[in-house]
Amino acid sequence: MKTFSQISPYQSTIRKAVHISGVGLHSGDRIKMTLSPAGANSGIRFVRKDLDTNNPVPAFMNRVVDTTMATTISEGNASIATTEHLLAAINGLSIDNIIIEVDGPEVPIMDGSSAPFVNLLLDAGIRQQKSYRRLVKITREISFRDSDRHISIYPYDGFKVTAEINFTHDTINRQVYSVAVTPRKFVAEICRARTFGFLEDVKKLQENGLALGASLDNAVGMDQHGVLNREGLRYDNEFVRHKIVDIIGDMTLLGCPVLGHIVAYKSGHSQHLKLMETIAATPDAWEFVELKKGGQLSVLNKFVSRTKEAGNRFLPILAPVVHKRPV
Ligand SMILES: [Zn+2]
Repeated sequence: MKTFSQISPYQSTIRKAVHISGVGLHSGDRIKMTLSPAGANSGIRFVRKDLDTNNPVPAFMNRVVDTTMATTISEGNASIATTEHLLAAINGLSIDNIIIEVDGPEVPIMDGSSAPFVNLLLDAGIRQQKSYRRLVKITREISFRDSDRHISIYPYDGFKVTAEINFTHDTINRQVYSVAVTPRKFVAEICRARTFGFLEDVKKLQENGLALGASLDNAVGMDQHGVLNREGLRYDNEFVRHKIVDIIGDMTLLGCPVLGHIVAYKSGHSQHLKLMETIAATPDAWEFVELKKGGQLSVLNKFVSRTKEAGNRFLPILAPVVHKRPV
């Protein structure tokens, strides 16, 4: 029997509630966020504290309503934009269960990377739970192609991401980076990479009332000559490392960790969602597994015995838990 010693067999949450606030990329408004511990098997869920409804928004792919500039999820009238960098921190640190309360329509952008969220989660502390973690183990290649953009996932005894980007801009050009994702490597190599944008695009967006919070404090900005940020880049290949932040963040919406190697070429949020939907629609290309103590693998056939639509396949893992607002 295979062992997966680098992956904890147990689910985890955080030890205590922690708070952060920052500007929303789109609205430009100040947004407060609280992260709180959650019970085993309850998953990752957002709550819009500024709305009258208590309905949580599960961080799950069938709640995605927009992928144009960021990944936005929604339930009823509650939507939350720019989820990916926070979800990358949660996934990168192998946290399974957490409640995310925001008092506005987006997660604050902070410095444009995952690092502020990693620091916040580490401040809270990570607590191992008693329940075993369940994962999707890829058993043969699954691919999605969208003109010249493509993304695949291959069998791999762990979680690995290889990304390639190709821009005609001299500062970026072609960049490839590959990482076998563990919490240690996510923190050391990936989480600090910031989102990036071109000045002309940001100007156009702002003329249309979008990206009102965008600034050189929360993105790498570029014009035709190069990087505009006075401090320069955090890594020579910060751009492709940030692509990996986005992939890890978006893949969180599968609803459980995945054992596989993702290879992405020029992918964006829309292709990441399509890969998850293709995985869910290809049940003969993966197994639903549980890790036992010691990292041993057991296959949970009972969860995949019937072909169901994507949502129903994974949602039982996230047994609906009604989130009660603290009084
Ligand atoms: Zn991003």
